[in-house]
Amino acid sequence: MEIISKIEDLQQLLIDKACPIAIREDMIAGIAANAMALQLTKNIVDVIDWKNVATDPVRMQFLPLASELEEDHPNLALDSLSEKKDEVVAGVIHRYPNKVLFLLNKVCPAYCSFCTRSYLVGPSTQRVQKDKIKMPFKRRVKGLLEYLKCHPNINDVLISGGDLVLAKLPLLEDLLTELGQLTTIKSIRLGTRGLFFLPQYFFKDHPFHQLLAQQYLWLKKRGIEFSIQSHFNHANELNSLSQMAANELTSLGIKIRNQTVLLRGVNADLPSLQALIAALVAANIIPYYIYQMDMVPHAEHFRTSLQETITLSKQLEGCFTGFHTPKFVVDLPNGGGKTNIYAFEKYEKETGTYHYKSAVKANGPFKYYDPLRISRMET
Ligand code: SF4
Repeated sequence: MEIISKIEDLQQLLIDKACPIAIREDMIAGIAANAMALQLTKNIVDVIDWKNVATDPVRMQFLPLASELEEDHPNLALDSLSEKKDEVVAGVIHRYPNKVLFLLNKVCPAYCSFCTRSYLVGPSTQRVQKDKIKMPFKRRVKGLLEYLKCHPNINDVLISGGDLVLAKLPLLEDLLTELGQLTTIKSIRLGTRGLFFLPQYFFKDHPFHQLLAQQYLWLKKRGIEFSIQSHFNHANELNSLSQMAANELTSLGIKIRNQTVLLRGVNADLPSLQALIAALVAANIIPYYIYQMDMVPHAEHFRTSLQETITLSKQLEGCFTGFHTPKFVVDLPNGGGKTNIYAFEKYEKETGTYHYKSAVKANGPFKYYDPLRISRMET
């Protein structure tokens, strides 16, 4: 079975993998409480260690156990980064002076429980009624292009969603071709977790690979950097297929920069981060950012305290050469944008509140709150 998205298919898989009944029941209850829909690809199923499924770092990201879940902090929000406030035309988020984010679609090959865009991505669940993309794709692209023409200071477009690995290829090709014709654009980045979810899409014989290869060469001639923003959270995700997929791109000359979300129980410990970075470097992927997890609801068990993240960041210093050492950032709630985790101006211990300034917005407040588990321990 290539994709698992029905609870009956998951139940059969759990039986086939000889998962204990207590875990099966715990997982079915966890999925019912999840903000994100159930969906797994074959590569995810193959990477999970089903004999140690309770502690497996890949399982945790897609198949929550009810027993893992924690009480939400009262200040969590589905659109925790206030993207909707910065949506200047349909699907176009303009937060930083020189770049925009274009939301291409709202579907992914698999759904991560901690997704920052859980207000939009995937089908609605028992927990969350998702937003709809109301405007047809071609009209959204027209809006994007008109906006870029009116804002010649924007030279960088990040295309994400959802995951563009599921985009209709002629539509993606048209979008890239149109963007490539704008002389103001110098960088086009594609955000995807597809290298892990559907690695075969990046192999030479696949039409998706062929489109990327052809666009890369064409955009390069026009002086535009065309690169990939990957999303790997654990070294186990870089299995032989994902490594081959990355190699197919880097051997063409396409740069891959990785973004990792720091997740308690998955990668928020020094050995896991070291193994992840070593695996990324071996696959020629640049370890770019490690994100403090966003303040989204129904995934609170994953969030570390900011102090835990700072400690990890210090421990990681010196383990790898400087250009292989990722930057630890927090994407500020209320649309403040990315900032260095160390850059807070004040910390209130009683409430676990960190106060930041935003580099891109004057009006705050920009507060990041530790999970209740931490602030309760501190008081
Ligand atoms: S792949 Fe990205 S957009 Fe899709 S569910 Fe995971 S985090 Fe969200």
